[in-house]
Amino acid sequence: MTAPNLARRLLTETPGWSTTADVIVVGSGIAGLTVALRSRAAGLSVLLVTKTDLSAGATAWAQGGIAAALGPEDCPDEHITDTLAAGVGLCDPSAVRVLAEEGPEQVRSLVDLGARFERDHHGDIALTREGGHRRDRIAHAGGDATGLEISRALLAALDRIVQDPRIEVIEHALVTDVVTDDEHRACGVMLHVLGSGRQGGVGLAGGRAIVLATGGLGQVYAATTNPPVATGDGVAAALRAGAEVTDLEFVQFHPTVLWLGRSASGQQPLISEAVRGEGAILRDVTGRRFMSTRHALGDLAPRDVVAKSIVAAMADTGAEHVWLDARHLGRQFLERRFPTIVARCRDHGIDPVADLVPVAPAQHYASGGIRTDHLGRTTVESLYACGEVSATGVHGANRLASNSLLEGLVWGQRIAEHLSDRLNDGPTAAKPPTPRPAMMEHRGRPGLLESTARAFVQSAMTGGAGVIRSTSGLTELRQRLSALATERTVVTPGPRTWETTNLYAVATVLAAHAQARTETRGGHWHSDHPDRDDRNWRGRLVSRLGPDGTLQTWFEHFDGPAEHQSREHEDRAPHGGAEWTEAR
Ligand SMILES: Cc1cc2nc3c(=O)[nH]c(=O)nc-3n(C[C@H](O)[C@H](O)[C@H](O)COP(=O)(O)OP(=O)(O)OC[C@H]3O[C@@H](n4cnc5c(N)ncnc54)[C@H](O)[C@@H]3O)c2cc1C
Repeated sequence: MTAPNLARRLLTETPGWSTTADVIVVGSGIAGLTVALRSRAAGLSVLLVTKTDLSAGATAWAQGGIAAALGPEDCPDEHITDTLAAGVGLCDPSAVRVLAEEGPEQVRSLVDLGARFERDHHGDIALTREGGHRRDRIAHAGGDATGLEISRALLAALDRIVQDPRIEVIEHALVTDVVTDDEHRACGVMLHVLGSGRQGGVGLAGGRAIVLATGGLGQVYAATTNPPVATGDGVAAALRAGAEVTDLEFVQFHPTVLWLGRSASGQQPLISEAVRGEGAILRDVTGRRFMSTRHALGDLAPRDVVAKSIVAAMADTGAEHVWLDARHLGRQFLERRFPTIVARCRDHGIDPVADLVPVAPAQHYASGGIRTDHLGRTTVESLYACGEVSATGVHGANRLASNSLLEGLVWGQRIAEHLSDRLNDGPTAAKPPTPRPAMMEHRGRPGLLESTARAFVQSAMTGGAGVIRSTSGLTELRQRLSALATERTVVTPGPRTWETTNLYAVATVLAAHAQARTETRGGHWHSDHPDRDDRNWRGRLVSRLGPDGTLQTWFEHFDGPAEHQSREHEDRAPHGGAEWTEAR
């Protein structure tokens, strides 16, 4: 079946104001803040825009920590081995090498910036273990509040340069689209600022480089650990700008999300993997341990393995959750090591000190996203992507725990360094782009989606493209999404309708990829094709939008053995991969 046409621009009002900067950074998580701070330090002028408050993204929610080979017995090569194993043959090993080798220095630079990680009794950064890691390599802060501490340190650094006229910060600014020039280079963004005054309403910002650091897409599902801002805006905007997206079918469902009943929706409390790292045990509802027979790493197997095992245990027992048993870790330890998690459980009437904690998988992380190279460059010139919104090749079919904060940090630094080289030598000022009519005018269908369609998309995605997928479920999902397209009407532009339209675009591509990939691998579990199929499927599904909004999807098979594939922008043919046909 074919995908419905998607909008090529989001309908907005005519821009009432404009501004310019060398670098426009969209998003204020670890990725966006790193690019913004380091680009400014390199002498570039920066405009940082963020959808709500500066700290509203996933970064501040990260619990477990940040992975890096910092321990005396560890080394980047071991970090690489674990990351490649988690990615099930689809990582780009050269990207993983960049992550693992540059990671330790970048974590130390966070410390220099002011981030306070926990220390061991020698005064070194204390390291713990998470699923899929064979070494203690997770630096953490505030017990289980690592992301909050990293976000605090980065925002404090931003605060220290608040008087600098060459960095401008606009909060409550939703970027609707990336603007491209006649030669199809990114040259600005359209944004809507909730507020009044000089920069209220719709504006146009011109930049010599545009960096999308908009985070995840968890809100495309009914239940997710992601915050409300995670509506996939960056992936949708990149598609509309003509960029390629890849690996969207690989959705990581975190195995241990607090189960609050079948009708719970929106952002759900996460019980970090670090709790199992410290010795907590999974049991089915009859009290039986089930992970030891399923994987050599037992309760600390990679996330996809644990999520699938939990779903199997739930099916075996007819229950809607399993138990996480942390009681033997003791009150003192649990309250000191996991203060946030303990408090959040107690808010819901569950005390991990005395009670078994009900958990079930929920959407957690997008392993795919906007395709980039090792410098964060997308397939549209001057458009970059960084952090969870990007697909650098680091995660393959499944992200290794605590690699995502690190990826935002490492690629944030790389992008800033590259922009400094590229822009400091080039022509000076950025110009406000000339708005083209298509940016503002709704030209018939497809248009914006009513915000009421959001719940429909979320429940359809949870039903059809959740932890376990099937041919019939995916077919039905795509039919439901297509039907929604025909019901679309011209609605009043605004944040809720823009977000809903973005969720719809992301859902459409994700569902198309999931249906196409007739195998089981990493974050994609297809019950009618339960085996990994390297002969046909060791490679990437890639999509982009055609000029009329049609979705073009193709498959690029990796050459050579699983451990040696590497794909750089230069040596791949963006349009030369095997043409995808729906019948395959
Ligand atoms: C509960 C939870 C726990 C986690 N634990 C860990 C962990 O322990 N270790 C780890 O490595 N990873 C963890 N992760 C994943 C990790 O937190 C994220 O992948 C990472 O923080 C993403 O950083 P980012 O900068 O890419 O995006 P985010 O931090 O999500 O920031 C995205 C930013 O973009 C802004 N934005 C979005 N759309 C727009 C728009 N249209 N216009 C303007 N601004 C926009 C948002 O407001 C936000 O500021 C966890 C995630 C969650 C949800």
